[in-house]
Amino acid sequence: MDIDVIIIGSGAAGVQAAIHAARKKVRVVMIGKPDNSALMKAHIENYFGVAMATGQELLLRGIKQAEGFGATFYPEEVIGIEISEDGFHIRTDSLKEFHSKAVVLAMGISRNKLNVEGEEEFHGMGVSYCANCDAGFFKKRPVAVVGDGSAAAVSALLLKDYASKVYWVAETVKASAELLEQVKASEIEMVEGSRPLRIIGDKTVKAIELKDGRQLEVDGVFIEMGAKGAAELAMELGVLPDDNGSLPVDRNCRTEAQGVFACGDITGQPWQLAKAVGEGCLAGLAAAAFVRKEKE
Ligand SMILES: Cc1cc2nc3c(=O)[nH]c(=O)nc-3n(C[C@H](O)[C@H](O)[C@H](O)COP(=O)(O)OP(=O)(O)OC[C@H]3O[C@@H](n4cnc5c(N)ncnc54)[C@H](O)[C@@H]3O)c2cc1C
Repeated sequence: MDIDVIIIGSGAAGVQAAIHAARKKVRVVMIGKPDNSALMKAHIENYFGVAMATGQELLLRGIKQAEGFGATFYPEEVIGIEISEDGFHIRTDSLKEFHSKAVVLAMGISRNKLNVEGEEEFHGMGVSYCANCDAGFFKKRPVAVVGDGSAAAVSALLLKDYASKVYWVAETVKASAELLEQVKASEIEMVEGSRPLRIIGDKTVKAIELKDGRQLEVDGVFIEMGAKGAAELAMELGVLPDDNGSLPVDRNCRTEAQGVFACGDITGQPWQLAKAVGEGCLAGLAAAAFVRKEKE
């Protein structure tokens, strides 16, 4: 199938890119499984004009909106992408093939897991991968942050303004000296030298047990172990991730490769809906403008 703009990813960034590109009257296809979007498990309360909504609600409405403007949506996975003579050749897991003049990469990130008992079961029920998103749900309640690096320290420092008690569980602390100083000057309790064995609860989290036998009574466990980007597909297009695994883009969400744009969590922190949507808008507009110029 021959089209103008292919958007890989149907999360917040991809959907917004589809809306803005389609309104510029170029042929747009968006590919991605909404169930794999970070938004599907989110409860949003920090997005402009939306006091409280489920991410799922916003996403499904957004996809309909994009289709209403003429974008075609395929809930599939892209398994291969190649640069061709006059654009890009894309294959999906149902073996559909597309040819496009521009590509928008909006594949999000997958947060690194602890891989312990209870982590999956209590995800969204006390287990969180985003302190920025979920700190507000733990006002005056005890929480633990798990992770060795600066991201874990930043989350612990944020959570101390909400939670009744913050434990920072780190096997080997690797945060910057400045952050470490701030943590030490606060009431955050550092629990060093061990890692979690399992997360315990009934309907929601009640405690975290460490390998050395210690048990911390907490209502929330924030896992800050970094994230993986969908770097492989990007590299097939010659777009190299930076040291944090994010795709570098300019002010208009252009990557260093001609005709390739990127937006959302895949371009780096903050991993937030507002940033993903803003970048989706820029990428969609820039991709449509690129195609129009190529056609002239
Ligand atoms: C539990 C949780 C709570 C959150 N709460 C908040 C909050 O309160 N406020 C806030 O601002 N943010 C919150 N976030 C963050 C927010 O959801 C993300 O920042 C946002 O969804 C990022 O949008 P995105 O489009 O970049 O990525 P995603 O929404 O993750 O979408 C990525 C898309 O790419 C697709 N994809 C990946 N690989 C491929 C492939 N090979 N082929 C095709 N498609 C592919 C996926 O299927 C998915 O559709 C939360 C996140 C989580 C996990």
